[in-house]
Order: sequence, then C-alpha cells, then structure tokens
Amino acid sequence: MLWTKTFIPTLREDPAEAEIASHRLLLRAGYIRKLTAGVYNYLPLMQRALHKITNIIREEMDASGAIEITMPVLHPAELWQKTGRWDTVGKEQMRLKDRHGRDMVMGGTHEEVVTWIVRGELRSYRQLPLNLYQIQDKFRDEIRPRFGLMRGREFIMKDAYSFDRDETGLRIAYNKMVDAYFKIFKRCGFDVKMVESDVGAMGGTNAHEFMVLVNTDGGECTILSCDRCDYAANIEKAVSIPMALPKSNEEPKSKEMVFTPNMRTIEEVTAFLKKPAEKLVKTLVYLADGKPVAALIRGDRQINEIKLKNHLHCLELEMADPATIVRLTGAQVGFTGPVGLKGVPIVADIEIKSMVNFVVGANRDDTHIINVNLDDFSVDEFIEIRCAEAGEVCPRCGIGHLVSSRGIEVGNTFMLGTKYSDPLGARFIDENGEEKPFIMGSYGIGVTRTLQAAIEAFHDEKGIIWPKSLAPYDFHVIPLFMSEPRQKEVAFDIMSKLEQAGYSVILDDRDERPGVKFNDADLIGMPVRIAIGEKGLKEGVVEIVRRKDLKMEKVPVEKAAERALEIYREL
Ligand code: ATP
Ligand code: MG
Repeated sequence: MLWTKTFIPTLREDPAEAEIASHRLLLRAGYIRKLTAGVYNYLPLMQRALHKITNIIREEMDASGAIEITMPVLHPAELWQKTGRWDTVGKEQMRLKDRHGRDMVMGGTHEEVVTWIVRGELRSYRQLPLNLYQIQDKFRDEIRPRFGLMRGREFIMKDAYSFDRDETGLRIAYNKMVDAYFKIFKRCGFDVKMVESDVGAMGGTNAHEFMVLVNTDGGECTILSCDRCDYAANIEKAVSIPMALPKSNEEPKSKEMVFTPNMRTIEEVTAFLKKPAEKLVKTLVYLADGKPVAALIRGDRQINEIKLKNHLHCLELEMADPATIVRLTGAQVGFTGPVGLKGVPIVADIEIKSMVNFVVGANRDDTHIINVNLDDFSVDEFIEIRCAEAGEVCPRCGIGHLVSSRGIEVGNTFMLGTKYSDPLGARFIDENGEEKPFIMGSYGIGVTRTLQAAIEAFHDEKGIIWPKSLAPYDFHVIPLFMSEPRQKEVAFDIMSKLEQAGYSVILDDRDERPGVKFNDADLIGMPVRIAIGEKGLKEGVVEIVRRKDLKMEKVPVEKAAERALEIYREL
C-alpha cells in the first residue's frame, strides 16, 4: 500500500485531550478521531489492526467450539424489564423510543437477547452444550468515558454465551473459554493475569477478569496477588487475612468532647489530636438507593464500596451530599460520628470490634469525641467492608503476602447459572423428561480496549511498537526521496518481494523530508522498516531497522527483502 493512496493523518503535536500515552498515540499516529465523548472513528490503520485482532479472536473462538452469530444492537425494553436489568443497569443503558413511543435499548451486552433466541429454539438436552458468540458494537452511557478507546460509550466487544444442562457442563464450558482467552491474549503479545472479580450487575456466582499488567496511568484496575501462591483478585473483590491486631490492654476510658476547629480530614484530626490514624474511626454517610446508611471504618483504611454495596443489596450507592449530611447529623461534613446518630442505620467494619478509646466525629461542628468505646453507640451490623491491602496475608495459602499491581481489564468471564434463563423462561427437557432452566455462562473481550492496551503496554517515547500479530502492516518501506528514480525502483522492488512472500507493506511515497518520514514510521509502529537512501545505494546497501529497539543493520540491496523477512521472523 502506498502512503498517498491511503489515509494516515499523523499529527506533529500531542493532542491536548489525551491523558495517557496510548490514547495520545492513537490520535497522533492517525488511527482514530473522536466524534463525540467516548465515540470514535476508526481510520484505515485502526481498521487493519481491528481485522488482525478480530481474526485472532475468531480463530480461537471457533477452535473452542463456539459458533459465531450476529445479534441486533436494538432491543425491545421488555426483555430487559423481564430480567430486572432495566433497573439495575440504569443510567448506563442507552435508551430511545421508537415512533410508537415504545422503549428500546441499544445493547451494552446481550444476555437477554441470546437467552431469548435459545428459549425459542432449543428444547432438548441433546442439543447441548451450545456456545454462541459475536463481535459487535456495544453501547454504554459510561459516567466517565475516558482514555480514548479504553472506556468508550460505543466500543467493540466479543461476547460469548454458553448454555449447559448442569453445573458440570458450565464448568467445562467456562474452562474452554478461559483456555481460549489465554491463547487469544498470548497471540496478541500479552502475558495476561486472570484474577477473581466481583460479579457486579451481571450477576451469577463466580467471575474472573483478564488483566494486562501495566505500570502506567492507563491501568485503571488495582490487583492484589499473592507472592507465594496463585491467588489474584481485583481489589474490588480481594480479601486478606486481617493482620492479628495486638490485643489492646488499654482500659476503656470515658468519652470526652474535644474542640477541633475546622479539623475535618483524618490527616488534620490526627495531627491536631496527636493520635495515629489507627485510633480514629471514620464515619461515612452513603445513600443506598436514596436511603441513608453510615459506614464506620478505621481511620487508616479505605472502604470497599463494592463490598458495601453487595452487602446492602442496593442498586445505587453514592456518598451523601453535604446538605444531606447536615440534615441527618446536625453538623458539617467532617464531624460525623456514630454516637447519638439517630435515624441512620450503622454498619461497621469488623476491625472496629477490637478498638478501644478511639476518636469519632461528634455530630457537632468543630467537635470530635475522644475515648469512645463500642458501648457508646449501637452498630446494626459488623461486616468486612475494608479494602484488602498490599502486605497483608494471602487468604488462600495463609503464608504469602499480597502485592499490588495495576492492570487493564481486557476480558472477563462469568458463571451466570440461571440468572437469565429463569426470568426469561428458557428451559429444556432433560433425559428424565423433566423441564430445567439452562445453566449459562457469559464471556466478554473488549476488542477496541485490547488494541489500545497493546499500545499502552508496548510503546516508547517515539511511538507505538506493535506486536507482530496486531500490526496494521508488517513492513514499512521508506525511499528517502521519491524523486530519485533509483531509490524509488529499489523501494518498489523490495515491497513487491515482501508482498509476494505473503506479507503486508506500507511504502511512504510522500514528498516529505526524510526526517518527517522516519518520525512517522516510529510513530505508527510497524515491526520492521527498510530505508533506501542515496548514500546507502552508493555503497549498495539499504538500512533495516526493527521498531522494538531501533536496532539498525546495513544490508546489500539484493539481499534486502530476504534479510528483512529473517529479521521479522526472529521478532
Ligand atoms: P469495566 O469494569 O471496565 O467497566 P465491565 O465489567 O463493565 O468492565 P463487561 O460488561 O464484562 O465489562 O464487558 C466485557 C469487556 O468489554 C470488558 O472486559 C472490557 O474489556 C470491555 N469493556 C467494557 N466496558 C467498556 C467500555 N466502556 N469501553 C471499552 N471497552 C469496554
Ligand atoms: Mg462497566
């Protein structure tokens, strides 16, 4: 392909809107352009990379026995109402009304639709197992679309759905998908980590995420994994064996109000009262589906809102706004505490059970209470709501310690059970003639997110470094000056040899300065580039550079294509 015959609008400057390297590079290297928040055009280079990744995914999905279909983007609302997800997915769902005023949904995932298909078509256990997949645009009105394709409002997903007669069948289907995922991501050049995850609004019993570990701001997820065994979990789900707290032999004292003018944060209060954060209890007021609830946690800990939300069985959990806090507690934000708090249920982290003489807000402006003990207030429930932390003991082996890393979730797998088949009445007849609901699993891969994750994981300050399997072109040929007939001739000759060998080539035939062409080659990131210049040709050589480390080799003109192929194969 000639550069001037395709469309690669590279930019000289970094686009201001991009916060992370991969987003910046996708824009600068002319792969994508934004249409509106979280919605992107995929330009020709992106389109080619998409072909590469979807081929890999298709090959591995087909090899696993899954069957490709295409379901509609547009769904009738009734299906989502039947499963209850009309309410649970809530504002993230893109909705519209048709001309008759009927509610419609733009699909963000397809459990409802696929279950509907199977409900109408499958009757017997003999037709099982079945795994249907598609690769398609998904729509989600994300609260914070950001980082380009990482969190878009329209994005491409591979979604697969398995149907089995029992739990054993589901396990087999699940493991097949896990194997396929490892193969897919390996072929994309990643070493992914499979971690336990919260099931969220998807429901079901068991779920895993596949993470590309990156040490950059693009890693939205925090993962805790054991340094001894294979335990690994998203921090939303991770647990740990709480460190044995030294049993306090402090005598409980009587509580006492203290003046803490304008001291609202844990840092301010600890500094002012000269007490460590472990001696404080934070009281956080949330609204769970609009109803207030106070959550208590030790001062130096973080609340795991997913655990709290799961415990409260609510659809939406949000921090109460300042006005609500004043109304409920009688004091400004920063002075909330459990003592004398009326009309608000209190849940407390289990660690608080072993605390003595601690500090809480007094529900009075500029005031805290010191030497508070458990019998000074009542707790409705003690639950584990703190985030596990790095350094704590692994819950699986009990020996190793948890270490923290950052990752990009590129795929996930859910054991759904009958969460969708039950409400939609999707049943089959088993070998004893009994009617039973299908046992389902669902399996997603963020196709566009994975491509961007590859860039986040593989780039340098000059540009993208594509893994061979995803690169839009295998080779990049640069005649320094197209106006020089000999350079042009050699360049075209090398391109045709490489193409005849079955590889794809982009040839930069622009009338640009060589510096511009080299910068663009580094930026767009093809694995091997061949530069043909006047000086080299005088010596009878061309320069072959591999993008990954910019290692250069001078190769005789007549050997150029052959040697370029060797270098490519060794990558
Ligand atoms: P997240 O926790 O990142 O919001 P999710 O749990 O909502 O992801 P799923 O509903 O399971 O994700 O979707 C399957 C896959 O689709 C995810 O693993 C991810 O790779 C991708 N994905 C999800 N949301 C987006 C999005 N807004 N933009 C791009 N890819 C996404
Ligand atoms: Mg999501």
